[in-house]
Amino acid sequence: MSEAGQSGLVVMKFGGTSMGSADRIQVAASLCAGEKRKRPVVAVVSAMSKITDLLLNTLKHAEGGDREGMEANIATLAKRHYDACEELLPESTRPVVRTGIDELVGDFRRIANGVLMLGERPVRSVDEAVAIGERLSALLMASYLQSQNVPAMAVNAREVIVTDAVFGNATPLMGPTRERAAAVLQPQLDKGILPVVTGFNGATADGRATTLGRGGSDFSASILAATLDAAELWIWSDVDGILSADPRLVPNARVLDLVTYAEAAELAYNGAKVLHPRTLAPLVSRQIPVWSKNSFAPEKPGTKIVPSIPNPTGPRAVTSMANVALVSLEPSSPELAGTKLMGRAFEALSASGAEVLALTSSSYRQSFCFLIRKDELASALQALESALSLELAHGYVKPIEVDTEVGLLAIVGEGMRGVTGMAGRIFTAVSREGVNVIAIAQGSSELTIAVVVRREGLEKAVRAVHEECGMGN
Ligand code: ADP
Ligand code: ASP
Ligand code: MG
Repeated sequence: MSEAGQSGLVVMKFGGTSMGSADRIQVAASLCAGEKRKRPVVAVVSAMSKITDLLLNTLKHAEGGDREGMEANIATLAKRHYDACEELLPESTRPVVRTGIDELVGDFRRIANGVLMLGERPVRSVDEAVAIGERLSALLMASYLQSQNVPAMAVNAREVIVTDAVFGNATPLMGPTRERAAAVLQPQLDKGILPVVTGFNGATADGRATTLGRGGSDFSASILAATLDAAELWIWSDVDGILSADPRLVPNARVLDLVTYAEAAELAYNGAKVLHPRTLAPLVSRQIPVWSKNSFAPEKPGTKIVPSIPNPTGPRAVTSMANVALVSLEPSSPELAGTKLMGRAFEALSASGAEVLALTSSSYRQSFCFLIRKDELASALQALESALSLELAHGYVKPIEVDTEVGLLAIVGEGMRGVTGMAGRIFTAVSREGVNVIAIAQGSSELTIAVVVRREGLEKAVRAVHEECGMGN
C-alpha cells in the first residue's frame, strides 16, 4: 500500500444536486475523467437530489399501511432513474442499465413490502433501503463513464466501509475499512479503473447494512480519502466553496479561500450544511487537504481546507441551526447540589445518545440549560425523566422546562482566540436588531462563540453579526 499522498490519488465527492439529472451526471463524469488523465481518481456519489427523502417517505407510507402511496413513490423513483438513463446513455447500453435499475428498485420494493406487512420500520431495514438511492446514482455514473470509454465500475460502499452497529448514524472502523479499501478498491485503481463508490452507506463487520447519518456522503468520501492515503479530497457541491454564511440567508456572503480543519469542523458542527460535521476527523492525522468546489462553476477556485493558516484575523464565518431546543433544569431544594444534578442529567443524556450543542449555568441558583437537536429531544427527555424520576416526584428538582422556539448561531474564526470584546460586540449587534439573546457560550478553544436566540430572530441575528464583523463582500 502506498504512503500518504504518494499515489497522487484524488477522491471526488458529488452531492445530490451535482448528481441531480442526466446533465449534472455528465458534468460530474467529465470532471472525474479530466482529472483521471492526470492521476488516479475515486468518485463518491450521493443519491440524485431529493431521492433519499423520497425513499424515507416511501417507508413511512409503507409503515402506515398506505400501499397506494408507497407504490406511487416507487414509480417516481423508477421513472427518475429511467429518464436519466435514457438521456445519458446510447441505445445499445440502455437495456443492461435498465435491468440494473429494475433490480435495485425491486430490492427497495421488497424491503418496503416487508415494512408494509410488519407495520413498522426496523432501523436495519431502513439503512439497507435508503442506501439504494446511492446505488442507483453510482450505477448511472459508472455506466455513463464506460459509455465515454473511461474504465469505471460502480462499487457498493457496503463492501468497503466497515462500521459499528449504530444504524442510521454509524461510525467507521478505520482499521478494517483500510484493509477492505486495499482489497476492493486498490486493485481496480491499479488496473486504471475509476471506482464510483456509493456515499452514505457501509456495513458492520458481519455484513449488516448501515448508514452514516443524513448528508453522510461527505463523510464517506473522507473515510475513503484517509484509508486510501489520498493526496486530496474534492467535495463538489452547489456553492462556490465555504462561505462566510449560508448564501441562502446572507446574499453578500463571501467565499473563504482558506479555512482550517478546526474552523471547518466548527462550522459544520454548528449547522453549515456544506460539510457533514464528521467529514474532517479522518483527515486530520494524515493532513489531507480538502477542496470545497462548485460543480455548477468548476472554474472557480473554491475553498481549500488545510491544517493551519498563517496570521488568522478575527471572526470568519457565522452559521446557524434552527431545529434545536433549550432544556432547563433547576434544583428546588438545597438538598440537591447543582453539580450533582448536572452529573446525573448528563449521564442520562449521554446514554440517550443526544448531543449537547451548548451549555450555560448560573452559579447561585445552580440552574443550568443546554441546547440539543429537536430530533433528539424526545429520547433525551425520556432519559432525563427516568433518571430523575424520584427527584422530580419529591420536588427536589423543578419540572423540566423545554423551549423549542429557539435557534443557535455560531461565530467561528481561529483569529478570535485571545481577542477581547468579541462576545460584547456580537451581543450588541444582535440586540440592536431587537432580537432577544437567551444565552452565550464560548468553548475553551475560543474558536467559536455560540449564541442562543429566539427562533423568530435567528435569520436577522445571523445577518446582523455578519454585518457587524465585516465578513461579507
Ligand atoms: P450536497 O448535496 O452537495 O452535499 P448540501 O445541500 O448538503 O450539498 O450543502 C450545500 C448547501 O450548504 C448550500 O447550498 C448552502 O445553502 C448550504 N450552506 C450552509 N452554510 C454554508 C456556508 N457557510 N457556506 C456554503 N454553503 C453553506
Ligand atoms: N443521500 C444522503 C442524504 O440525502 C447522503 C448525502 O447526500 O450526503 O442524506
Ligand atoms: Mg451534503
